[in-house]
Amino acid sequence: MSAAAQLLNLASMAGPTRAVKVVTGLLRMHARYFLVGRGRGLAKVLPLSTPMKIHVDPASGCNFRCFFCPQTDPSALRAAGVKAGVMKLPLLQKLVDDLAAFPSKVDELVFGNYGEPLLNKQIDEMVAYAVQSGSVREVSLITNAALLTKERADNLAAAGLQKVRFSVEALSDEGYLTTTKVKVAFADIVENIRYLHSLRKRPFIYVKIIDTGLSQEEKQKFFKTFMPISDAISIENLMPVTEEAAEIVGDNGKGMTGVSLSAGRAVCPSPFYSLSVHMDGDVGVCCADWHHKTGVGSLRDQSLKEIWNGEQLRQFRVEQLTKSWRNMDACAGCEMVNHYPVYEDLDRHRDGLVVSYS
Ligand code: SF4
Repeated sequence: MSAAAQLLNLASMAGPTRAVKVVTGLLRMHARYFLVGRGRGLAKVLPLSTPMKIHVDPASGCNFRCFFCPQTDPSALRAAGVKAGVMKLPLLQKLVDDLAAFPSKVDELVFGNYGEPLLNKQIDEMVAYAVQSGSVREVSLITNAALLTKERADNLAAAGLQKVRFSVEALSDEGYLTTTKVKVAFADIVENIRYLHSLRKRPFIYVKIIDTGLSQEEKQKFFKTFMPISDAISIENLMPVTEEAAEIVGDNGKGMTGVSLSAGRAVCPSPFYSLSVHMDGDVGVCCADWHHKTGVGSLRDQSLKEIWNGEQLRQFRVEQLTKSWRNMDACAGCEMVNHYPVYEDLDRHRDGLVVSYS
């Protein structure tokens, strides 16, 4: 589905009285992507001397146990050697200091990937450090809102946080228990988001829920509840990243946002524009790498610029171009690769890109 068709699809789900706000909110949120970012065609801007997007996990764990998230399978995490813990402030400061060596600003630094960033007690200091560095155009955070007390909301807003992506997991107390395996009051989630939205100086607020089989009634409840306390809102699709989720999705995979997918793509675009920094400083190439297999360096003994321009990442990109992700051990079985929209397709540009990265 094209981006425009998906917008109309969401607008019709929201109903006539809310359609305009759904469309304008998402246009605001994605304007930069389409006007000056990868939405104009990733191949046109490669090779990049500065990464466009960096994910940072301030905490490797999560307070929820959602059935669709691989983070919730402790045995799989142990088997993959993923360490539990929180990022120390000096490591984050080193990461941010490293950004000054790049020729341009990083377009987006995102706190939160597979872990819940609010589990890190120093998250507001981390956000402030990143904002004040001047090396990042937008500092954002992904959270499930459960730990967003008023004090933390005040601190994050004061730190200059520019965008929050809230993941709402259900629409009732029972729904939260079923989905997250944790007792959560739905009213508290709503109140936490409402409070942040009420602040005079606050970040842009995006709220989404994953469609795990929502009824029409539930979809209406979602829009009715969260539209007044958000700037952009959406219902995203379930991704088949756990066995339980894969059973529900079956052969009907539509990608996370439902926007034009390239189901048969050979080259994954992510390593060409993004990095993902784990809580211990290990660096991978994408936000899909929950088992830390795409490692291309460590902040503990390298600068981010050395990693971005280093031999490990160069080889990783060349293998993408010449072998395809399907034949790379690090990417075997990846369910995210086809989620990246068509605007980021690199398959047709392989020959030229191999020369650029060789
Ligand atoms: S194919 Fe998947 S695991 Fe490999 S780099 Fe792309 S998103 Fe990451």
